[in-house]
Amino acid sequence: MKKEIKEIKTIGDLKKAKYKVLSVKEEIRKNLLEKLERGERVFEGIWGYEETVIPQLINALIAGHDIILLGERGQGKSRLIRTIVTLLDEYIPAVDGCEINDSPFAPICARCIRLIREKGDNVEIRWVHREERFGEKLATPDTTVADLIGDIDPIKVAQGRPLSDPEVIHFGLIPRTNRGIFAINELPDLPERVQVALFNVMEERDIQIKGYKIRLPLDILVVATANPEDYTARGRIVTPLKDRFNSMIRTHYPLSRDIELKIAQQESNFKDVRDGIKIEVPKFIGDIISEFTMQARKSDEVSQHSGVSVRMTISNYDIVIASAYKRAYILKEKIAVPRVSDLYYMINTSIGKIEVESIMEKSETEILEKLFKKTIKVIFDEYYKVHEFEPLLNLFREDFKFEASDMKPSSEYTMVFEKVPHLYNLAERIGGRRESEFLASYLEFFLEGLYIYNRLAKESVSGRYYYGSSPFMRGF
Ligand SMILES: [Zn+2]
Repeated sequence: MKKEIKEIKTIGDLKKAKYKVLSVKEEIRKNLLEKLERGERVFEGIWGYEETVIPQLINALIAGHDIILLGERGQGKSRLIRTIVTLLDEYIPAVDGCEINDSPFAPICARCIRLIREKGDNVEIRWVHREERFGEKLATPDTTVADLIGDIDPIKVAQGRPLSDPEVIHFGLIPRTNRGIFAINELPDLPERVQVALFNVMEERDIQIKGYKIRLPLDILVVATANPEDYTARGRIVTPLKDRFNSMIRTHYPLSRDIELKIAQQESNFKDVRDGIKIEVPKFIGDIISEFTMQARKSDEVSQHSGVSVRMTISNYDIVIASAYKRAYILKEKIAVPRVSDLYYMINTSIGKIEVESIMEKSETEILEKLFKKTIKVIFDEYYKVHEFEPLLNLFREDFKFEASDMKPSSEYTMVFEKVPHLYNLAERIGGRRESEFLASYLEFFLEGLYIYNRLAKESVSGRYYYGSSPFMRGF
């Protein structure tokens, strides 16, 4: 079809080319089945839903259902909906100049019906790209019927057209997404009267504007999202509208740390190399970043009703790399390798991304600091037992002290490895690289782990962290 598109300019041309217009749901079904048959990945860039959400979504699309996705914030619902656009034909023909992408063979707006009656096969068509066939609205309590459905166009009325003239309508978002996909986010926040109007469009296929009922059999796939508790709360969604969504699919957060991290890496602003500085994130650092979010999702002190978004992991991942990158840039180090002193910045970026349970008296910062410690402990335990660090603790017992910070040159960490060569063996488990940038990262992890196990004391003074044997620490 692609090549011929330029030559097909009128309804007559389209008829000659024997073009068959499909409904949007038929079109998606056809393209989806063809992709599946070819063994292609259907939802590009979506991770962690392969065995849960995606099979359900595929079935719903093949069934031609309107869909509601239920999930807490930051589960990739909007992204998932946008990828359905890739299942549309690249281009479809519509009546040129139509506000609602009318099908050349079955127009529904008054203007196009009149136009085709007057000019027949000579009516011009326009090829509409699939990216133009997606509409999205975040529902809010002040969303109006005029926004979503339409209103009387005051200019046309002023020109003397009567209100009963169907051509005086100014179409809202949903009609303008005719023959496409319309996403409505946070459906329960839509006022009841707008919900009723939405139901009328989807089910009765008519719209009512200022008391006038107009038949408008839109061809549309509606996908809504909602927080599960809001959706099931009594009175938040009018029952007929609820019934209209034939497929209800529950989304979820990544089930594993690796998936959480993979999404963060995909969305990250940092590539592997920037300004000649190589960015390398050791696996244990990535694990800590992911685990921090996962701990927040398990915490009683964090509101699980709204959830903890994957966006928290993404912004934490970026801020930790930014800190490491800044160090490498200023100190002219070759590799940016994040360390624990970079990870502390996650606490600040996470404020505002969690909601504290209101009964708790702690501040967000206190809760996040506690989660941070817990996270380091979880990851430390996966690699080490405290007693393995006896040689290092012996060094501290000899009144050794160490100052760590995000701006301390990596070369100043290596001497601890020279003093305690056993650390090289322990470092093997978390990557075993010998560049000073890596050794600095490993050492901070060891020290923080030993601090959490109360085997070392720590004092923080404006971004510097002093480790020493307890009791502390007047020596600095
Ligand atoms: Zn039209």
